[in-house]
Amino acid sequence: MEGQPQHTTNPQIPAKQNIRLLLIIFVALILSTGIYFVNLDIKQNKKAEEIRQNYSRLLEQGEYQNKENYQLAQDSLKKSLDKIYGRVDELGKQGQYIAAAEELKKLMTLFPENKDIPQKINALETVRQEEEKSLVPYYGPVQHIFFHPLIAFPALTFDGDLQSNGFNQWFVTIPEFNKIIESIYAKGFILVDIKDLYEMKKVEDKETVVPRALYLPKGKRPMVLSIDDLNYYPYMIQNGTVHKLIVDTAGKIATYSKSSEGKETISYDNEIVPILDQFIEKHPDFSFRGAKGVIALTGYEGILGYRTDELQSPLFSKEKEEALRVVQVMKESGWSFASHGYGHLNTRDVPYERLAADTQRWKKEVEPLIGHTDVYIYPFGASVKPEDPKFKFLQEEGFKIFCSVGPNPYLKYSDQYVLMDRRHIDGVALILQADMMKDLFDSKMVLDPVRPPLKF
Ligand SMILES: [Zn+2]
Repeated sequence: MEGQPQHTTNPQIPAKQNIRLLLIIFVALILSTGIYFVNLDIKQNKKAEEIRQNYSRLLEQGEYQNKENYQLAQDSLKKSLDKIYGRVDELGKQGQYIAAAEELKKLMTLFPENKDIPQKINALETVRQEEEKSLVPYYGPVQHIFFHPLIAFPALTFDGDLQSNGFNQWFVTIPEFNKIIESIYAKGFILVDIKDLYEMKKVEDKETVVPRALYLPKGKRPMVLSIDDLNYYPYMIQNGTVHKLIVDTAGKIATYSKSSEGKETISYDNEIVPILDQFIEKHPDFSFRGAKGVIALTGYEGILGYRTDELQSPLFSKEKEEALRVVQVMKESGWSFASHGYGHLNTRDVPYERLAADTQRWKKEVEPLIGHTDVYIYPFGASVKPEDPKFKFLQEEGFKIFCSVGPNPYLKYSDQYVLMDRRHIDGVALILQADMMKDLFDSKMVLDPVRPPLKF
């Protein structure tokens, strides 16, 4: 073996050593991919224990002829542990102490002899208790604002075609979004998770919606943010949005676009998701416990730029896999998801049967990608009354909070549902409703000169 070139797959390494090496690499791999943390049930716990014992035995034996490869595997294991510690630190920074401790507890089952892990868990608990003491109850209104995907390439948007005016009305540009967020942050708002507003409890044996008391850092006002139609429909892409969200090599969300000349662009500053991710990294006090926003998705042209609606396409499984990866990373970084119907139908106008079929299709195609959600965001803001059979149907499908559109904060609880209005932040709001926006930002300062005059 001496003097021979060393590769991890060197065919001349004795088979026994190779198997040991593979085992270490395997442990490193499952740690780094996070597969281990998905649904760790009893069976998997057993499996983990087996792997751990094998791993410890191998370490004790320490009789490796192929030291270089052994070192490689060790380095890889250390890197994987560092990655998990990194994720735990990230959660800690977001104030998600309980989730961070949970991750560490799972890790303890793999490395019970590691003394760092329990220490880290204790430290998290101390910080959590300290933070809790500093929170105060909040009783005022809860804002909910929403956007569409950003105008990333205004030359494509405002090219004078038939759709230019629609985008001018319902969308905002990148500089506008940046200024809006700066202003909202400066005014003391803090993003909260929509799930922080209610919870389900058994009351007299009946599942009941119960308002949740908000405890926030002193002086902060809660705000929910949502983004509608982050599907990247072809017509939006043609008119200047990015093409899709992707996960970069560092595990962060970026955007991907390809120009008509074939030039590919990966960016972090031309869509709400990566912009907010970075903004909150810089200003952690703009987010309560890591909350970011709610993504309202239809399904008829796929989600997040992936054509997950083309079930028969040879590309389907790859598109699905990539979409799942983006969703996973987004969820881990504080984003959540809502239904926006499958075909963006008007809930108020559409017949009951059509709404039912549309909802079922959403459940079949979109829910497996984003997981269960009880948030329903009405397409066109077209809500139905709780007495309406269509509302009852949506309730039966598991939706608990129903978001419409309105000029002011509105949040109403019943024991079976929550109704919430959202304020639209777009060209109409900026140009025609400047006065109503004053509590959030100064429209004159925000308005992007790239916009042509609004037509009616
Ligand atoms: Zn919509």
